[in-house]
Amino acid sequence: MLDLTYEAPKPKVIAGAKKDWELVIGLEVHAQVASKAKLFSGASTTFGAEPNSNVSFVDAAMPGMLPVINEFCVAQAVRTGLGLKARINLWSAFDRKNYFYPDLPQGYQISQLYHPIVGEGEVIVDMGPGIARRVRIERIHLEQDAGKSIHDMDPAMSFVDLNRTGVALMEIVSRPDLRGPEEAAAYVGKLRQILRYLGTCDGNMQNGNLRADVNVSICEPGAYEHFRETGDPSVLGTRCEIKNMNSMRFIQAAIEVEARRQISIVEGGGTVDQETRLYDPDKGETRSMRSKEEAHDYRYFPDPDLLPLEIEQAWVDDIAASLPELPDEKKARFIADYGMTDYDAGVLTAEVEAAHFFEEVAAGRDGKTAANWVINELFGRLKKDDRDITESPVSPAQLGTILDLIATGDISGKIAKDLFEIVYTDGGDPAAIVEARGMKQVTDTGAIETVVDEIIAANPAQVEKARQNPKLAGWFVGQVMKATGGKANPQAVNDIVSAKLGL
Ligand code: ADP
Ligand code: MG
Repeated sequence: MLDLTYEAPKPKVIAGAKKDWELVIGLEVHAQVASKAKLFSGASTTFGAEPNSNVSFVDAAMPGMLPVINEFCVAQAVRTGLGLKARINLWSAFDRKNYFYPDLPQGYQISQLYHPIVGEGEVIVDMGPGIARRVRIERIHLEQDAGKSIHDMDPAMSFVDLNRTGVALMEIVSRPDLRGPEEAAAYVGKLRQILRYLGTCDGNMQNGNLRADVNVSICEPGAYEHFRETGDPSVLGTRCEIKNMNSMRFIQAAIEVEARRQISIVEGGGTVDQETRLYDPDKGETRSMRSKEEAHDYRYFPDPDLLPLEIEQAWVDDIAASLPELPDEKKARFIADYGMTDYDAGVLTAEVEAAHFFEEVAAGRDGKTAANWVINELFGRLKKDDRDITESPVSPAQLGTILDLIATGDISGKIAKDLFEIVYTDGGDPAAIVEARGMKQVTDTGAIETVVDEIIAANPAQVEKARQNPKLAGWFVGQVMKATGGKANPQAVNDIVSAKLGL
């Protein structure tokens, strides 16, 4: 059962010179649709291609070229909306957002201002066991990405690369429901996780495929609760928008410094100007980029080249039927089915590939043991090599066989770790390796007894001591394990040593 009765985390309080302040944060996340072709043209979206090689006449805005909507991108936006439990608008429309920029040859961006394809939804942001922030999504709209101006290749010239021009973006707009830097970063993390589960965006922040505009304001304690009760935004502070953040660490740092900047302005008797700012990670400060534009500055109007986008409920239902199990559901099921902790379930479901790997290992085996091995041995080993789960040299079947060998008593837990290392570096069938290298655990009590007898005979002084102090029997157990290369069944050794020493 999925338990969604969470407790809300406390808002972060920042002490100013004069009083305490709280933060209010809302994010506009731009997620690149995982599509091979652009939103309105057939040009490729491959990252890192030769500059200006993925540009069609439509992207270059040649006269007379007309955009044609890419149905696949629309489906991904719908899929994302369904994943965020949002309302899907069967009727939506595209608008032109007019502005001049060298990397925007059309002179406008095609976006959806008045009628977005997706309406209100939500994201549950986990902040610890049983503690979560429910962040409301206001809308998701489809829009085109712009190209890239390159200023650092030549001292006198700037270059323009139009490869990214026209690539489909989903702009996911949250309500101002986040109350601290950690929550904001956790929100982006959760959103990224859901998008990756859905397969609608690869979430690669380094390549800029997921980036966020972060809106920050400060208010006095209690003001936000008043805003939520009355819906009156005037009780909140004026917000500033920090543009284009593509690292969780920088998002947190930027919010923190921006909040402190606003606090010192307000406490100094000034007022915060609503503006767009840039975060400079080297200097650890935000800088003004431009004063905030209003929608009317862009002269938005319905794009006359595109018909309104009408989709059918049956099509939406088909997409809904194909949704995968999402992170919250998967995590709750792991806790319930495998008896694992909230923490372990969180680790195993963080990446969908890891969750699948684990479930293959756990199938028909003890879930807790499988979870331990995947988290401690496998993840630990992969981390050492800076590899992710998709690059694991050990397959689920191989790891499963190792667990089977432990379960049947063929190998001890200690030998299993050696075996794991061999399989990790050399590959091969674990059972065959155990046979070939004679790694089987000795459970033959006769053989163990012979070794115990030899060690007792050779160490009369130790025997005397152990009879006085039974704790010293451990020394004999250690000697037996050493003599058998760690292959003797530890329980059997213990029993035999105790019996022979008469303890
Ligand atoms: P605009 O249309 O001017 O961009 P929106 O209402 O669409 O303004 O809000 C843009 C983003 O700013 C949203 O993510 C929203 O949650 C956030 N936001 C709105 N008000 C505040 C505030 N007072 N403090 C922080 N963020 C805010
Ligand atoms: Mg906006």
